[in-house]
Amino acid sequence: MNKSEMEEHRESYDACMAQADDAIRAGRHREALATAVSALQFTDGMMRHAAKYDNAQFDNVQSIELILRYAPLLLEQDPLKKLEETLDAQRRIERTTSENIRQLLGAATKNLAACHRLWSLLESIDGISQEQLSGMLGKEPHDWIGTIATWHQMQLVLRVPNGSSYRISIATRMDREMRGKCSYCGAERRALYWKLLESLECARCRKLSLFTLLPTDERK
Ligand SMILES: [Zn+2]
Repeated sequence: MNKSEMEEHRESYDACMAQADDAIRAGRHREALATAVSALQFTDGMMRHAAKYDNAQFDNVQSIELILRYAPLLLEQDPLKKLEETLDAQRRIERTTSENIRQLLGAATKNLAACHRLWSLLESIDGISQEQLSGMLGKEPHDWIGTIATWHQMQLVLRVPNGSSYRISIATRMDREMRGKCSYCGAERRALYWKLLESLECARCRKLSLFTLLPTDERK
């Protein structure tokens, strides 16, 4: 790779990562992830240029860090595969970064599996409480509550305060109609899910009641 090729790669890399930064700031995480993946092809050239002309040393690089962080959270396997292919094809990347990227990739893959499990559980039980979650997911070494908090920041899940804890649900399914049962008189009613998560006046007993969600077979 000659100097002008390295320069081109560095410019392309910087352009990608500037776009990824903007996307993250705007809450478009999936776009940021895709942009980081397209920066992979320029990562080696950028590193060579920075090492040669700026004497740069690397712990890790931003494109790779972004993929390791967001691919698991967004349940995307493909970016991790692309990263692995890049590491295999351009061994120099691993040689010139002081962090053990292969190990981080292994951790991200495990993280992805854990995130999948958590997401499936949230999909299967609307309005699950945070305590229930910990019980159902067992003692796996994954920070479930931390993941929920991050998903909440990314607006992928909703947390509705419930006593000292939260009820968790997937953001995109909030507009679904569900059945609920009055906690005072047992009367059933249907309402949009997000309304049932809060106290509603019961049509029968007229009390302000927190409705218990009833299981439903309906698919959205
Ligand atoms: Zn009632």
